Amino acid sequence: MERSFKQEIEALKLGDGEVFRGEGILAVTKALLQSGVSYVGGYQGAPVSHLVDVLVQAEEIIGALGVHLETCTNEASAAAMLGASINYPLRGAVTWKSIVGTNVAADALSNLASPGVIGGAMIIIGEDYGEGASVIQERSQAFAMKSSIWLLDPRPDLPTIVRTVEKGFELSEATHAPVMLELRIRACHVTGEFAAKDNRPGRHSRLNPIPAPPRFEYARLAHPPATFAQERMKVEQRLPAAQAFIRDNGLNEFFEGDLAEIGIIVQGGLYNSVQRALTRLGLGDLYGGTRAPLYVLNVAYPLIPSELISFCAGKRAVLVVEEGFPDYIEQMVNVELRRADLQTRVIGKGALPATGEYNSEALLSGLAAFLKDARPSGIDADAIAERARALTAHKLAAAAAAGELPPRPPTFCTGCPERPVFSAIKLMQREIGPAHISADIGCHSFATFAPFSLGNSILGYGMSLASAAAVGPNMERRPIAIMGDGGFWHNGVITGVASSLFNKGDGVLVVMQNGYTSATGLQYMPSSKTGRGGEAAGMDIEKTLRALGVKWIRKVRTYGVARMLATLKEAMRSAERGLKVIIADGECQLARQRRLRAEEAASLKAGGRVVRVRYGVDDEICSGDHSCIRLSGCPSLTVKPNPDPLRSDPVATVIESCVGCGLCGEVAHAAVLCPSFYRAEIIRNPSAFDRALHRLRRRVIGWLGGREKAAA
Ligand code: SF4
Ligand code: SF4
Repeated sequence: MERSFKQEIEALKLGDGEVFRGEGILAVTKALLQSGVSYVGGYQGAPVSHLVDVLVQAEEIIGALGVHLETCTNEASAAAMLGASINYPLRGAVTWKSIVGTNVAADALSNLASPGVIGGAMIIIGEDYGEGASVIQERSQAFAMKSSIWLLDPRPDLPTIVRTVEKGFELSEATHAPVMLELRIRACHVTGEFAAKDNRPGRHSRLNPIPAPPRFEYARLAHPPATFAQERMKVEQRLPAAQAFIRDNGLNEFFEGDLAEIGIIVQGGLYNSVQRALTRLGLGDLYGGTRAPLYVLNVAYPLIPSELISFCAGKRAVLVVEEGFPDYIEQMVNVELRRADLQTRVIGKGALPATGEYNSEALLSGLAAFLKDARPSGIDADAIAERARALTAHKLAAAAAAGELPPRPPTFCTGCPERPVFSAIKLMQREIGPAHISADIGCHSFATFAPFSLGNSILGYGMSLASAAAVGPNMERRPIAIMGDGGFWHNGVITGVASSLFNKGDGVLVVMQNGYTSATGLQYMPSSKTGRGGEAAGMDIEKTLRALGVKWIRKVRTYGVARMLATLKEAMRSAERGLKVIIADGECQLARQRRLRAEEAASLKAGGRVVRVRYGVDDEICSGDHSCIRLSGCPSLTVKPNPDPLRSDPVATVIESCVGCGLCGEVAHAAVLCPSFYRAEIIRNPSAFDRALHRLRRRVIGWLGGREKAAA
């Protein structure tokens, strides 16, 4: 990581009686240290990347506690780490982005949950659901339910989040089952404070190692016939034990309200949004007061029938606020109420949308619809519905007033080394026709947006080559799979490369070697030039490919568009069958700029010579057809009014944010567009030679200018 977490690390040192202030995800990190974990692992992904990122830089603190930290190569390896808690009284936590990460980890999770654990095992998942999400819209709850993993969903409030982490470990140990801590984007970034406790070392760690493995016990293996007994244990022992623990420790919360005929059952993570909507409708206040009684499920699975029944008894209707589909909680509530023969009406999906994030508008309209349907005495449901309509109408009115806004899709950073590869692919397609493009997860998936619009499928992280396996044999042209170096090490090397070689596949794979898992915050990976603690892990993509048996490999600097174009054409046209891999080599520009800024500042301070390269467009030559923009898409390349009064087309221009990568000039050259691009060097602290050269150039330009004047 190039970014420093110095401030966050200080917060992790707080002890008894001190006040922690900060974000939800950092509070979880502190709570882990307060809970005495022996190990932490994870695979980066929003919104939980911070957890491992901060710990990586907090080696001193976790080292003193004896905590082992593993930056895993994928979520499956993180989940498998929890195997340490099956036999030993070791508390541990792992983290990743869900749903995608949980999909990858699913095998290890099943094999963990079946035998169960002795030490507390916690899976911290960043539930990437809703408007800001970057992955498929599915719910992690399904995994918790199918594997008998208890699902914690604390309301976004720092003391509640910290208590849930601490109690979560106790719950895991009391019931011998792993627990999941579900954190939505808002819970990760909510800010607040809580009274810190001292960090404590785990029962065993590298400071106090376990002397010997346990006595061999077949029953602790997820292997038949033990698995049959384990299935019974999950249902007959662990589930009732979990329900008793959750009830006895008051993990779920009740908030009283005077509208006793109704109630709202809400997932803990959605509590803040519901409370805010109630306040805006005049049924709550900013201090947590509510007129509608609330039952807050800080544990979303399992449900506690006795709590549910006591909450619903005597009520005419309850609203279940449960984001996403399927409506697992609503179905469970219906089943438990019918079992108890309670006739309370259950309203959920219908009043509320069946899919999508429960944002402010969805909740205002949903609550209003529920109240109109249930009509509790003591309020005017029609007036509340009108208020909800008026509150949501503002947005519609604002949208109508603003008119149609141009879409702003996400795009590569300025100067990204991956952009030139897609410029080259577009140029290649112009010559040899369109090819099937298997896209992948990572920054390079931005190429699916304009101006490139390249990508026919995305099947998962590191899956691009595998997802082209059945396309290749059925297409006239070879398919092109794009994969990042992050995806390569995550699983693409086995899932894609080994499988293609094993099956004698014939396709093209472009590996974007930018040096980091950039999209998730520039974490190091096996082939990074440096790693945790400064030293590189020493793994190399090219050597790995050769060792596996790939014969056709070309390594091309990404900014060399002409060479990349020639290499792509060679790969597509080659008579040689088999996998062809192009390693597109270019360091992530975001990481490079962070490093350069610091290096340049230090050099300037010491009076050193610093050169900044900029590109520009000559207004007089630019024809205004903008094909350079269509082939590059760089945000620093834009248009401005034509300074020539006789020409109306705007001309291309390069703005201040240009980092001088040279792509626009390269593209113009490779595509034989126009000669309007020029390269300039801005030199600070110039040398004597620079000054002399500058004087000479001015003289020559002046002489040329004078000759022109004389000729005129
Ligand atoms: S983070 Fe790096 S790789 Fe990703 S778009 Fe930005 S420059 Fe490109
Ligand atoms: S040189 Fe061109 S492509 Fe590169 S950052 Fe500057 S404007 Fe963008």
